[in-house]
Amino acid sequence: MAMGEPAKLHPMTRHDDTSHVHPPKRSQEPFHAVAMSVERASTVIFDDLESFERRVERLYDGFSYGLYGTPTSRRLEDHIAVLEGGSRALVVPSGMAAITLTTMAICRGGDRVLVPETLYGPARDMAERLLRPLGIEAISYDPKLDAGISALIDDRSRLVWVESPGSATFEVQDVPAITAVAHQAGALVAADNTWASHLLFKPLAHGVDISMQALSKHAGGHGDLLMGSVAVRDKALFRRLKDTSRFLGYGVSPEDCALCERGLMTMPVRMRHADGTARKIIRWLSGRAEVAQILHPSEPDHPGHAVWKRDFAGSAGVFSFVLQPEFAPMQSRVLRRMQLFRLGASWGGVHSLISVSDPRKGRISLDWLKPGPVWRLTIGLEALDDLLADLSQAFELFAEARRNGTAAADAKAAE
Ligand SMILES: *Cc1c(COP(=O)(O)O)cnc(C)c1O
Repeated sequence: MAMGEPAKLHPMTRHDDTSHVHPPKRSQEPFHAVAMSVERASTVIFDDLESFERRVERLYDGFSYGLYGTPTSRRLEDHIAVLEGGSRALVVPSGMAAITLTTMAICRGGDRVLVPETLYGPARDMAERLLRPLGIEAISYDPKLDAGISALIDDRSRLVWVESPGSATFEVQDVPAITAVAHQAGALVAADNTWASHLLFKPLAHGVDISMQALSKHAGGHGDLLMGSVAVRDKALFRRLKDTSRFLGYGVSPEDCALCERGLMTMPVRMRHADGTARKIIRWLSGRAEVAQILHPSEPDHPGHAVWKRDFAGSAGVFSFVLQPEFAPMQSRVLRRMQLFRLGASWGGVHSLISVSDPRKGRISLDWLKPGPVWRLTIGLEALDDLLADLSQAFELFAEARRNGTAAADAKAAE
């Protein structure tokens, strides 16, 4: 149909049923939106028999079936590859999917994978309950070992995971040193770079083979998206990851890809803002008698602080602190009093959150951590003054109890 003419049905659609399936064709006037367009598909059609029969060749770059890529998902993957400083990237349904994919693509029965004690909790669970029964042995290591992990790498070790800074306690690992010893022993290195994201640390530039991140966090940025990515420099490694992703049946919806792309556009501004607010909240917390220790790489006495200064371009607005042990029984009351900070486990969104965990569980190497409950704060885009006022009014309960010497008794009375 030419421009300006009334809509006309396809000449072969003589029956109403057929015209329900085949809408009128429109002229292909170019349409260039500034935002990413969404192209949905499971089925893809081919021009001729030759290209249909050779569709497997399009698995890695072209289009053969919606599950294996759409123009929308490929555009997001190209964008992430560039931001990561890699040659190719792959998006998968979640950060957790990206961790499992990476490990399954590289390790086989009889192999070993090294995981830091600080690796994302569900991933360590996966190593025990999915990998171990398949004959893949996960060796847990102290994230502070750095080049010292060479003692743990044997000839069965295929893969070393790093997560720097680590979940909950934020130790920074010497990724270049770990990568050097791993490569010397013939093992690959994968980084869970979710905290820093490609914006603050580029694992591939430091020798890491696979840079993984949960796009659900900073990139999604609004607490409503689940996605993960892996980025690599090496083409053969990309094909291995892509094949494994295909065998696992991973696919992402184009709507989610477009949402992620939209999140990426504002991510640097959001992250810088959250970091600025977080640093000021850290200063406020440092002056509170209820706080025993701040866990953030910018703190000079935090494990890996020097490495963080050397390798990272900044910090994310996610950190933890240790509460004085005497206040442990009052946590629930104080958390209930918070108005803006809400109890939730994710991070990287516009909302400020608190999550409470026990990072000592399953760890051997926490001698540097002071006793007491650990609260993780993720800073959103609320105004600093409002966040401080919220913390202040909730912490007043702690202060009262401290003045009266009744922290534990108060908690009992409230039960
Ligand atoms: C959230 C998170 C993941 C998992 O991402 P999902 O998309 O929620 O599956 C992995 N690693 C780290 C460090 C995370 O914070």
